[in-house]
Amino acid sequence: MIHGSPTLSPTRTTADRVADVVRHAVRTGAVGPAHPVAGFVDVEGVRDSVAALREAFAPAPRVLHTFAAKAASLIPVLRLLAEQGMGCEVASPGELRLALDAGFAPGDIVLDSPAKTRAELAEALALGVAVNADNLDELCRIDELRGPGSASVVGLRVNPQVGSGSIGAMSTATATSKFGVTLRDPGNRERVVRAFAERPWLTRLHAHVGSQGCPLELIAAGIAETYALAEEINAALGERRITSLDIGGGLPVNFADDETTPTYAEYVAALQAAVPGILDGRYALVTEFGRSLLAKNGFIAALVEYTKDAGGRRIAITHAGAQVATRTVFMPEAWPLRVAAFDADGRPKDGPLLAQDVAGPCCFAGDVVAWARELPELAEGDVVVLRDTGAYYFSTPWAYNSLPYPGVHGFTVEDGGEVRLATVRPAQTLDEIAATSGLAYAGALGGLLEPAL
Ligand SMILES: *Cc1c(COP(=O)(O)O)cnc(C)c1O
Repeated sequence: MIHGSPTLSPTRTTADRVADVVRHAVRTGAVGPAHPVAGFVDVEGVRDSVAALREAFAPAPRVLHTFAAKAASLIPVLRLLAEQGMGCEVASPGELRLALDAGFAPGDIVLDSPAKTRAELAEALALGVAVNADNLDELCRIDELRGPGSASVVGLRVNPQVGSGSIGAMSTATATSKFGVTLRDPGNRERVVRAFAERPWLTRLHAHVGSQGCPLELIAAGIAETYALAEEINAALGERRITSLDIGGGLPVNFADDETTPTYAEYVAALQAAVPGILDGRYALVTEFGRSLLAKNGFIAALVEYTKDAGGRRIAITHAGAQVATRTVFMPEAWPLRVAAFDADGRPKDGPLLAQDVAGPCCFAGDVVAWARELPELAEGDVVVLRDTGAYYFSTPWAYNSLPYPGVHGFTVEDGGEVRLATVRPAQTLDEIAATSGLAYAGALGGLLEPAL
């Protein structure tokens, strides 16, 4: 039984289920010469992760759990989450479009982002999407754009400046982070209180303290600061103006093994230790988890195309590199991934371990997803699996080398190991690559060198 996934089929471990899917994918060609790399989403796992999140917050009378769309920006995944009763956090016009197409009601969508244009704000306010302003200038734009009948809940993002986790690029509550109104800089607390005093429709505070690498206590401390600010503002205004707190996402994920740790229950416990009243309904709550809902519910499978030796090191050249594992390739210490080896029939490989670099298809030397990793000896036609890549990996590919976006499949596994796959996104075709690379404008540049008429 997998910790944190109480309803997974008890006879099959997570590793069994991955092996079932790999064998099935190889047999059906979902992974093979025509599709040398693909992503897979564990549909039951997603359902169970949502259930664990809900259960942890069950004592709170009013809570909207939104999914941070950037963690898995695929409409079928978003639709599945909508069907599980979640809302959606979006941070761009594209993500808003995906959320609407996935079927989220506008009132269950929250728009964040530090660079919202006037047009984006106007659209969100007309639709009734909740908006968290990133800064006080954005509030002034909302003053101009918000119609009197707007159904949008409007909040203000603050940065409690509680400090950094272990990955600087993932830490949003440092002294100098680009996000939110900094609370400890001189004069800002007063400015925030005044902003609320001047705007009766401003009813929410938002804080997202950080993502992978931030300890629970740091996240909880940031939320405690935000809660205290809400109390201070309501006291200063003499009314319960702030009615909801958006506490962000950022629960870290364990990439080392199959255990789900920390759990949502542990997160809530840390939160309650820092803010004893947080679940008592004094404020409605919004959460914005991404990675913790999807990461462990997805993996990448890729063919080994060649193996070679270089300078005494064995290298397996596979089809999964920086185009699907961008963060891991560029920051290997911060984002290590588990790699599992399968043979050409999709069966788990065993045999003596050999240190091998697992490299990708991109044409730059650093395109390696695992350096000197001890694995059974890989050979041409084998399959490597990159575990825990359900969030921010195959769903967010990088177009380097004009490599196609990989196909993505959802899966379920029955007790006997029978696998069912459903297409989430077909692999990008060469025609699509040409079209997004300016095919329709092929002659545009030479034309500039012709004399103007
Ligand atoms: C990215 C992001 C999230 C989700 O973070 P995870 O670490 O994936 O849970 C939530 N809120 C905001 C504002 C974000 O930018």
